[in-house]
Amino acid sequence: MNKEIKPLKFSGKWDFDPAPESVDHISLKDQYGLFINGKFENPQTSNYFPSVNPANEEHLSMIAEAGEKDINAAVSAARKAFDGPWSKMSAKERGKYIFRIARLIQEKSRELAVIETLDGGKPIRESRDVDVPIAAAHFFYYAGWTDKLNYAFPNRDPKPVGVAGQVIPWNFPLMMAAWKIAPALATGNTVVLKPAETTSLTALKLAEIIQEADLPNGVVNIITGAGATGAGIVNHQDIDKIAFTGSTGVGKIIMKAIAGSNKKSTMELGGKAANIIFEDAPLDQAVEGVINGIYFNQGHVCCAGSRLFVQESVYDVVLRKLKDRIQSLILGNPLDKNTDIGAINSKEQLGTINKYLKIGQQEGADMFQLECPIPKKGFWCPPTLFTNVSQSHVIAKEEIFGPVLAIQTFRTIDEVITKANNTPFGLSAGVWTDKGSKIFNLTSQMRAGVVWANTYNKFDPTSPFGGYKESGHGREGGLHGLTPYLNF
Ligand code: NAP
Ligand code: MG
Repeated sequence: MNKEIKPLKFSGKWDFDPAPESVDHISLKDQYGLFINGKFENPQTSNYFPSVNPANEEHLSMIAEAGEKDINAAVSAARKAFDGPWSKMSAKERGKYIFRIARLIQEKSRELAVIETLDGGKPIRESRDVDVPIAAAHFFYYAGWTDKLNYAFPNRDPKPVGVAGQVIPWNFPLMMAAWKIAPALATGNTVVLKPAETTSLTALKLAEIIQEADLPNGVVNIITGAGATGAGIVNHQDIDKIAFTGSTGVGKIIMKAIAGSNKKSTMELGGKAANIIFEDAPLDQAVEGVINGIYFNQGHVCCAGSRLFVQESVYDVVLRKLKDRIQSLILGNPLDKNTDIGAINSKEQLGTINKYLKIGQQEGADMFQLECPIPKKGFWCPPTLFTNVSQSHVIAKEEIFGPVLAIQTFRTIDEVITKANNTPFGLSAGVWTDKGSKIFNLTSQMRAGVVWANTYNKFDPTSPFGGYKESGHGREGGLHGLTPYLNF
């Protein structure tokens, strides 16, 4: 006999003892040079800038700033390696190096996860369970393709493009480096990569791994700096391909800069994803998916489900469940294994998010936030949701890149498809329903590169990722991710 299951009487938050991950096992230098031609070199600019921990504003290390001469040195090392050992090596041998990098990432996964959390502010649970394993998986996956390119593209005689210039953002520093470097090496290219200014450390640890893997000098060069260093790579005459992940604004600058040149490009840009809950969805799972979709990594996710559309008939219950769940989230020390919500990556980004919170309230939307103590030092934004939002509100249109959800309602499928597509972006979307037919209907009508069904923010190296419209062009991951690094 089915007895009614009564909900647990639970008010407030579970009170866990702190469980911080240790930092004893990591090694960080006081100062990092530029990784050029297999060695760490002092920058010819003689300039260094600090990398700080955004959770407590403590200094971590000094990072070199690459100027024009350093960029020239890195590109010429990459060219020499491309013309020399790397293109003369058999594909099978090339693959062995990539497998070696993958294994070394796994071996050092604990250290990499801690450094990622210290430098970027994301919870250790995420850097440990998402960033580092996915980075290793990308190297493993693309290592496997290295000697099979003629099977991947039969009768097309694929050839590497040459020297790839790669510029990446701060939200998934090691993972983005892996997404860029692994397919470039598998297809026989050489690389000059620039990590983001605020999160260079794991890319520099990857440079150490690449040294340990004994990759021929100059095949991968990692140079650090701010936007000007990125622009220097983009504008360099001897770069054959630009792979950029970052904001739509900078993506547009780069596309203008390379227009008329022979450079190939892939652009992975911003997003404003729609996450759609139908009345027939498993609501508790959907709410968990929404939480994961927008509050994961403090909303520093290009594919974050930042616009939630709830069918009117279940709006009240979904909103109540969402608010309850938000109140149970734990914000605090990112190194603590219990932490759900870490620090905002930088003071600048916190300023941007706060600007949007103000705009949302001024526009007349209602704001709800997790009530919790906020650490005195560091950069923090509690998980936030807005109701009473309309299509024309700035918070429903622009990418905020923080833990901020804008909720709207709908009655019919056609209405929600129109609303979901009413955006200049098109990176990702989510659908929650128990009807397969609805999923297929929506996935074919939504203009988004990835549509998750009854899940959200799941990544796999075998699966292509990329956007429509102002979310960019080209795909990373899977077989599709090989094409931008090949000429036919
Ligand atoms: P960003 O400001 O565009 O910066 C991205 C990278 O470009 C950084 O390394 C940056 O250097 C560099 N850069 C800045 N100006 C440049 C220029 N004029 N020329 C060349 N490079 C330049 O983006 P972000 O704030 O770091 O990252 C957040 C954005 O990335 C969001 O819009 C997000 O949606 C997007 N994103 C997209 C994807 C995707 O797959 N579609 C994935 C992750 C993130 P600094 O070190 O000085 O910042
Ligand atoms: Mg930092």
